[in-house]
Amino acid sequence: MPTQERYILALDQGTTSSRAIVFNQSGIVIGMKQLPFNQIYPQPGWVEHDPEEIWRTQYEVALDAIEDAQILPTQIAAIGITNQRETTLLWDRTTGKAVHNAVVWQCRRSAGICQELKALGYEDEIRTRTGLVLDPYFSGTKLMWLFDQVPGLRAKAERGDLMFGTVDSWLIYRLTGRHATDATNASRTLLFNIHEGSWDQELLRMMNIPAAILPSVLPSSADYGYARKDLFGAEIPVTGCAGDQQAALFGHACFQPGACKNTYGTGCFALMNTGKDAVASKHNLLTTIAWDLGKGYTYALEGSVFIAGAVIQWLRDELKVLADAAESERLARSVPDSGGVVLVPAFVGMGAPYWDPDARGAVLGVTRGTSKAHLVRAALEAVAYQSRDLLKAMENDYGTAVPFIKADGGASANNFLMQFQADVFDRPVILPETGEVTALGAAYLAGLRTGYWSGLDDVERNWRRKREFQPELADETRQRLLERWDKAVAVARMFK
Ligand code: ADP
Repeated sequence: MPTQERYILALDQGTTSSRAIVFNQSGIVIGMKQLPFNQIYPQPGWVEHDPEEIWRTQYEVALDAIEDAQILPTQIAAIGITNQRETTLLWDRTTGKAVHNAVVWQCRRSAGICQELKALGYEDEIRTRTGLVLDPYFSGTKLMWLFDQVPGLRAKAERGDLMFGTVDSWLIYRLTGRHATDATNASRTLLFNIHEGSWDQELLRMMNIPAAILPSVLPSSADYGYARKDLFGAEIPVTGCAGDQQAALFGHACFQPGACKNTYGTGCFALMNTGKDAVASKHNLLTTIAWDLGKGYTYALEGSVFIAGAVIQWLRDELKVLADAAESERLARSVPDSGGVVLVPAFVGMGAPYWDPDARGAVLGVTRGTSKAHLVRAALEAVAYQSRDLLKAMENDYGTAVPFIKADGGASANNFLMQFQADVFDRPVILPETGEVTALGAAYLAGLRTGYWSGLDDVERNWRRKREFQPELADETRQRLLERWDKAVAVARMFK
């Protein structure tokens, strides 16, 4: 075993599992472990995680990934962290113990608080300062809920005895003892001014949040301290941190303004690098910090499709027309087109650019000859149409055409979907060699700080494409398909 070789350990703390991946200098995975953890649903619409379980599973997979890579902890040059964003934790400054379960980004418990803030007329101000919409999704109103509902917490916070953090902060604290976060995670709290780069006093006042609980905000590639020796048997520097979607944008090497990635998972998450410009959206997109390499912020526009891979799960689990997700590709290819069927998967409303929470799904254009293959094909096409609408909105906001889309996520394994995406968006879709772009992004941020990688050129050289899908559809055909899709969306939204 060549013990002189050095590696980067990425901790990828997700919503349903904790993962750890060891990368070598070429950005290749040499060890990986994953552990799921419990989802806690105290009430309909509420979601919590046990902070100790988050830490325990994350630490365990870190040790196991190092073992899986057959290396020693002393060979880890640095640790990078990426995480589920917005999820909100509070812990005791003296004991280091969490004082409540983590309130997960999906949790809707602060919907009423958001309504109250809207009624007070704060929405525009919040949007201007944070780039976010006033929604329970983000940390700020989750914190308000905790202070309002859990006896004693506010007094404790005001005495300076509590620490707040998103999941990255929690892991950094448990690893190094420091109370810190990075700019990408801070930009998802509803409390951070993304233009000034500081916790916003006015927002803290509006939401009545004591400033004493807030972590220091560092660049995404920075010195977060050393992981304690008793954890790994060696002190390891923690030098990279970014929220999961931003880390994926970085891992895809989307370094140029206009570069764009779309993650095809349960939903889709698209981010577009907008360089030094924090572009305010006219289409309900979010403005967020993409990363901070210590020389000022790079910004991004962000949007999501709520139901993407989930429509395939629905066909499999509810309608039972698929044995597994992969079968959707074979079925879609078994017919020349969707036979006129358009499926609008607005199962939980529609996200940007429509922003219609009350819309519901629809299947249109059904005939006596409609088969399950047509339905499945229409479902996959809908994933691409929705992404196309989102990406078009980004282009319109930014005023520049996206050159190509870099794709990842479970459903990006579907070649039919990727080709159809290239066809309806009329841009190439590129798949990277490693699907682990989120963890890789965190690894790059960490390794750039310590000199493991010398600069962005080095990272770009590492980037390798697995496959590229070129647009092949004639303009008239694409226009005809898009007109039918637009009509179907309009019809679905009318039916309330
Ligand atoms: P998440 O991180 O959101 O849990 P993943 O990136 O693991 O999601 O992707 C899982 C999703 O991708 C599921 O919704 C599944 O239905 C979908 N999926 C997986 N493989 C395929 C495939 N070959 N074709 C279409 N959808 C797929």
